[in-house]
Amino acid sequence: MAGKKPLPPGATIGILGGGQLGRMLAMAAMQLGYRCIGYAPEGDNVAADPCADFFTDGWSDRDALAAFAGQCDIITWEFENVPLEAVEAIPAHLLATDPAALRIAQDRLEEKSFVEQLGARPAPYMRVDSDEDFARAFERVGTPGILKTARDGYDGKGQWRVDSAHEAQGIRFPGRRCVYEGMIDFETEFSVILVRTADGTIRFWDSTANTHDSGMLTRAALPAGEMVEGQVEAARAIAQATADALDYVGVLTLEFFATRAGPIFNEMAPRVHNSGHWTIEGAATSQFENHIRAICGLPLGGTETRFAAIDMRNLVGEEALEAHSILAEEGEPHLHLYGKREARDGRKMGHVTRVSSRLP
Ligand code: AMP
Repeated sequence: MAGKKPLPPGATIGILGGGQLGRMLAMAAMQLGYRCIGYAPEGDNVAADPCADFFTDGWSDRDALAAFAGQCDIITWEFENVPLEAVEAIPAHLLATDPAALRIAQDRLEEKSFVEQLGARPAPYMRVDSDEDFARAFERVGTPGILKTARDGYDGKGQWRVDSAHEAQGIRFPGRRCVYEGMIDFETEFSVILVRTADGTIRFWDSTANTHDSGMLTRAALPAGEMVEGQVEAARAIAQATADALDYVGVLTLEFFATRAGPIFNEMAPRVHNSGHWTIEGAATSQFENHIRAICGLPLGGTETRFAAIDMRNLVGEEALEAHSILAEEGEPHLHLYGKREARDGRKMGHVTRVSSRLP
């Protein structure tokens, strides 16, 4: 993108992935006069609703990928597990962001060592390729710990907690490369979300305190508390070094644990992030709009927080079926429903953001 002209209104943005992040990206793009086309295999592709066209083809269908790319002026992704082969089948000049970011983020081991080289501190960890490796890692790293598949995990899937030696005996190597990491005794979790343009300009949103349940984000809130506020600068320096090293374009997220010994890096997401949904109403410009602006070569919008207190909560599973009743609450809650057809347990169906000009 560097040195290229901004994309004019009416240009077409291609989005790889069909989830709620793609849906909110397409809504932001539409507001700026762009047209979006999505691509994801058959499924509950809620990103299709605001898209002018949507390809429901497989990630290995090169003809379909070529037809999709042929209609796009720029292509981005909303899902970090889009197979690399699919992204590499797309002409490089159409990709908004270098696929190296995706390759690294798809593998927990690569991601940890990449960010470690840039000065970040991850939880103590070891690579696990067999039952013997697991026994060795378990002995060296100790308990409590957590065994995670190196690839294809999200929202706590592909993870096994190990609280004791007794529990470790019951865990077998799942047959896929894993990482065993020590459990971090953190005060709060937080994320650094930044946007970077092709010419290297970077802006950060405020870091929320994030709450997870069974590995899945449930809440993001501001103010994030003293410990997070004291560690944001160091975490931002790592996020910025990561974005610069990748010559990254768009929104990038790094997740951290705030501990008494400083910020511990957990993982990165080369995309807009669930913990940034509050930016739609709570910041001068949302993560979705600034991602679109960055990839289309438009000037970035401000990222300042507009309220004293913000509380974003996910609506999960059947909880969302009654969600319209939230609209009767005081304080003007902002409700977002993703239009998913099936309210399965543990599925993110929507979110609600509450903002206030007073501190809680
Ligand atoms: P992940 O998929 O690695 O982001 O893990 C999902 C969530 O599980 C994190 O946001 C934490 O709440 C928890 N978790 C994962 N790894 C660790 C760890 N090493 N120590 C403590 N909590 C963890």
